[in-house]
Amino acid sequence: MSFLYKANPVRGAEWARHFAALAPDVPFHVWPDQPDPASVRHLATWVPPDDIAGTFPNLELVFSVGAGVDQFDFTKVPAHVPLVRMLEPHIAESMVEYVSLAVLALHRDLPRFLDQQRREVWKEIQITAAARRRVGVMGLGQLGQGVLERLKVFGFPLAGWNRSPRRIAGVDCYTGAEGLAAFLARTDILVCLLPLTPETRGILNASLFAALPAGAMLVNVGRGGHLVQDDLLAALDGGQIAAAMLDVAEPEPLPAGHPFWRHEKIILTPHIASMTHPETAVRFVLDTIARHRRGEPLPGLVDRARGY
Ligand code: NDP
Repeated sequence: MSFLYKANPVRGAEWARHFAALAPDVPFHVWPDQPDPASVRHLATWVPPDDIAGTFPNLELVFSVGAGVDQFDFTKVPAHVPLVRMLEPHIAESMVEYVSLAVLALHRDLPRFLDQQRREVWKEIQITAAARRRVGVMGLGQLGQGVLERLKVFGFPLAGWNRSPRRIAGVDCYTGAEGLAAFLARTDILVCLLPLTPETRGILNASLFAALPAGAMLVNVGRGGHLVQDDLLAALDGGQIAAAMLDVAEPEPLPAGHPFWRHEKIILTPHIASMTHPETAVRFVLDTIARHRRGEPLPGLVDRARGY
């Protein structure tokens, strides 16, 4: 009965170290090293092998090594095998840091100051009070809620938009398609923390940008597929969007020569907003395996019909 890890091999070595310490009795393997495929009960992966069902006939659980599961073809994971996304606490902590950084960077006009520095321009820009900069978060899951909680300290008026209704103290919550226009109309800095699903693909598009106040700013930490890139470039050129901070792209890595690389109104990072921390990830998968054996509900269980 063994555990197979098929993702970044450097992080895999870290997982192996923590498995050895926390579950020394479980044989742990890092792809491409493989045990007898029939012995593999648990698989942690970013992109699963093509024929999971045929290759590992006795699988009991599949884990995504990240919080998102949009990289999975759900049809390839047998219906009776639960698919679980990573819910270890470091993912949320580092996302909260990154979005705080991004919101403050946009609020304090960092893209313009970086551009001025490159051009050797020493010029003030008036400060806008945080109380007059309205921040809105799309997606009020574990990450969106964590981010809003931390942003409270700066004094931004806060709002959130979500598929199902939410009540969060100090945050104006909007729901579904009927709540979207009102949410956007009051949002100066928009943060996308949605999962990528057929419903949310391309949601950051020209009509959404047009519904924001002129000169609004964008933080995309969801997935590259949420953003219609040409629409963002047009909105930046026309001034409807003043600046953007993007952690995700499609494809990744962003190709050489792509206009985002050198755009003076874009700050770009290479999908590093948060990363799974091996020790807490191993604790999470061991806890999930134990819950599964006891027949308990699984935190992070993916609803394949919903897509996240
Ligand atoms: P959760 O599943 O906890 O939350 C997702 C939220 O989005 C839920 O509240 C859900 O609503 C809402 N939602 C889903 N579909 C829609 C929709 N069509 N319209 C409105 N709201 C919707 O996910 P997390 O917070 O853990 O993660 C969110 C995403 O962040 C991940 O899927 C991933 O894409 C991205 N991510 C990016 C990382 C990075 O490094 N850049 C790292 C980690 C995650 P409901 O309450 O109804 O279910």
